[in-house]
Amino acid sequence: MNGLYLHVPFCEKKCTYCDFYSIESTGLIDRFVQTLCKEIEIRCASLTVPRTENTNGIPSQIGKTLVPFHANTIFFGGGTPSLLSGTQLEKIISTLKDHVDIDPNAEWTMECNPGTISEKSLSDYRAAGINRVSFGIQSFAQPELDFLTRIHSIQEALDAIPTARAAGFTNINADLMFALPPQTVASLEHSLQTLIDLQPDHISAYSLVYEPGTPLHAQLGKGLVVPHNEEFDAEMYHIVMHTLQQAGYEQYEVSNFARPGKQCAHNLMYWHGHDYLAFGPSAHGLVNTERYWNHRSLSTWQAKVDAGELPQANTENLSHNEQAIEYAFLHVRSDGLPFSTFQQRFGLDLQTMLQPHLQHWIDADFVTINNGVLRLTFEGYRVCDEISLKIIQSITK
Ligand code: SF4
Repeated sequence: MNGLYLHVPFCEKKCTYCDFYSIESTGLIDRFVQTLCKEIEIRCASLTVPRTENTNGIPSQIGKTLVPFHANTIFFGGGTPSLLSGTQLEKIISTLKDHVDIDPNAEWTMECNPGTISEKSLSDYRAAGINRVSFGIQSFAQPELDFLTRIHSIQEALDAIPTARAAGFTNINADLMFALPPQTVASLEHSLQTLIDLQPDHISAYSLVYEPGTPLHAQLGKGLVVPHNEEFDAEMYHIVMHTLQQAGYEQYEVSNFARPGKQCAHNLMYWHGHDYLAFGPSAHGLVNTERYWNHRSLSTWQAKVDAGELPQANTENLSHNEQAIEYAFLHVRSDGLPFSTFQQRFGLDLQTMLQPHLQHWIDADFVTINNGVLRLTFEGYRVCDEISLKIIQSITK
């Protein structure tokens, strides 16, 4: 199970809280698409590996035949990928298919801004091969959308999911935000219920983070924004978890909820530590324990690709210890940490190492251990960070 991530670094207007790389120069999209296709060619050529065959479980190389990278999940993120036209998207997808061995049943997700879509554009994306859309809805309260400086209106948020259904999508995610300064318990409950009534297949619910370097962070520093206190944020998270579970959405990660069978394969691919190629400025990829990240500037990224070079700013090889921490961290916050698999992979008996904490976590109803797999409970998700920290400390001791 491997993935592809494509970063589309354009937004109509930059939101004050956002620290993803994106710019408002939408006139540059055509040129970006050309460069992205060239990056796909360059990177895939550098990664094509000698074909191997499993003989009695032992891989052996077959001559010099080369096979391309295999991918089961593809994710267009941003920025605002829904600023792409159907034709631009088709060009990117056709280039991907020429250079990557893409599973016929692959999940193809595209992030869409409710303010930049129409039934026509969504139908074009569906025809090009996108089979899952993710809408950044965030809230159904106008003061909260205004606070976030989102470009979409409440009506556009209400229309997004029905429009996607009309365009043929049967797998739809909506992002919701909580812990927003203008938000009250009543307005959060209103947003949750409005979203549940629209019946998306998947909901990602995130609390607002004041990312350093953003205009919102600067406003916070000047005292122009007053955040809620931690207890109130925790209460909001509890309302989100409880309401979504009551409505039939299973929580399968700290921030992610899905109807049965509608978990996001791309998320699971990340959390299970599989390889993924990433394209576009600022995109991060992981291949064979080596992480790389592209230049976070459209012009630098473009100049590198134009020169026929990989546009990455840097790479790092994850050490054995870093791999163990990442494995534990990502599994705990999603579908559970299997102790025996962890021991086989990293040579550490984590269950014994965690003994000082385990009974307390079980007694407090934060975790369960069944068949050697440690899983967070409903209460445990609320203290995920504290539990993750203790696990990381145990590994690094
Ligand atoms: S639309 Fe999304 S990617 Fe663009 S600035 Fe807003 S939050 Fe960031």
